[in-house]
Amino acid sequence: MSNVRVRFAPSPTGDPHLGNIRTAVFDYLFAKGQGGTFILRVEDTDQARINDGSLERMYEALKWLGIEPDEGVYVDGQGIIQQRGDHGPYIQSQRKDLYAQYAKQLLEAGKAYRCFATPEELDEMRKAQQAAGKPPRYDRRFRDLSREESDKRTEAGEPFVIRQAMPLTGEVIVHDVIRGKVSFQCADLDDHVLLKKDGYPTYQFANVVDDHLMEITHVLRGEEYVSSAPKNQLLYEAFGWQAPAWVHLPLILGADKAKLSKRHGAETVLVYRDRGYLPEAMINALAFLGWNPGTEEEFFSKEQLAEKFSLERIQKAAAVFSPDRLEYVNGWYIRQMTDAQVAEYMLPWLQSEGVQVDDMAYLEKVAGLLKERFKHFDETSAFSSFFFKRPKVTEELKNLIVPKKLTFDQVQENLRFAVEMLEELDDWDGETLHTELMAAIADAGKKNGEVLWPIRAALTGEAASPGAFEMLAVLGKEESLARLQPFL
Ligand code: GLU
Repeated sequence: MSNVRVRFAPSPTGDPHLGNIRTAVFDYLFAKGQGGTFILRVEDTDQARINDGSLERMYEALKWLGIEPDEGVYVDGQGIIQQRGDHGPYIQSQRKDLYAQYAKQLLEAGKAYRCFATPEELDEMRKAQQAAGKPPRYDRRFRDLSREESDKRTEAGEPFVIRQAMPLTGEVIVHDVIRGKVSFQCADLDDHVLLKKDGYPTYQFANVVDDHLMEITHVLRGEEYVSSAPKNQLLYEAFGWQAPAWVHLPLILGADKAKLSKRHGAETVLVYRDRGYLPEAMINALAFLGWNPGTEEEFFSKEQLAEKFSLERIQKAAAVFSPDRLEYVNGWYIRQMTDAQVAEYMLPWLQSEGVQVDDMAYLEKVAGLLKERFKHFDETSAFSSFFFKRPKVTEELKNLIVPKKLTFDQVQENLRFAVEMLEELDDWDGETLHTELMAAIADAGKKNGEVLWPIRAALTGEAASPGAFEMLAVLGKEESLARLQPFL
């Protein structure tokens, strides 16, 4: 195992959407490709925003995609949140003492200080700055308070936060693997809060302390965190720690080139599972959101993706999520499945529609016919219900079986002609049906479509369906003739 260690660090505040699961996929592929370790850490320091069940849903998404972490938090078979690994705990709310200890270390070194400003004071400060046309900033009013005074106010029970004493001049350089050197002016950075009044750390602080203690080598996270990087970098420097490699992943836009919204691709990844997408297709679509292998090749197994994945091939420009591509990729993966696998996928969809399937061999034949058409398995019922139920003979169906330029009487005659011939047929397989029926149609001087269309429409009751020979073969002689009977 190499020393590469990456972490996926979700906050349990919402659903596993494309953005955060894309990060997890990149973490996983990079870790696996490098023979490294993929860790799941839970960033739950913003207690007010915690959403029940969020972590479980996040984990369910990872599990569905087959990218479960090697170390850190996991959800066991009973649905209980557990942890494994020797860098724990991996849940930030269980690490409060550690953050207090590290904040104290900076305090002692004079690199951080207590700030006793009240909410009213901070509010006034902001208003005054706004009125003067300046950006709202903390004015560092407690930065130079003597240590004695600070200790005295603490002992008196005055509430405080701990802020980092940032360098007042100069610049801070962040080395981003994708963007190269990015520099920031220290003068633009606030003396930001490390530890809040309630003793909880801020994201910036906990994130740095944990990445260091968990020996994280590469931080992969969304581009929206670029502005956090200088603060993180200065924290590493204040502690005298080596910063990890920063890898800020490009934004994800919807097909309309706008930021993903609820309506437009920001749904939970689990929605795709529930619509009958395959995990292989989802991983593929996510892996291509900001990365590509540099060749025209499009389809890879998870293992092949991990082998090919490199940070250098991650793009800077925003990536566009295309539901059409996901659909296309999913269709491709479905076509690679065996008929038996497709049947297994179809089964629960049929059952949920109340269709009883007693004969898996029959379902397999159906699967074989439909495999080419499926884009996702929620199409199961629409594509296949007529294999399990006889279509109702309605006026509408009587109209449907009549091709253009023919009358119902002519169609009836064509069906009688076909049924007469089919009744005599003993070898009821696709090939024989094809040969015999085509020969009979030719002999009678009829047009193929004028016989075959009515057969297929009468057998299925649908305008879109597999062809007449395939339908006849799968339904079998008895069922086929019974379905044609009402039109004779
Ligand atoms: N908790 C942050 C999030 O959910 C993690 C960001 C990071 O990876 O540093 O976006």
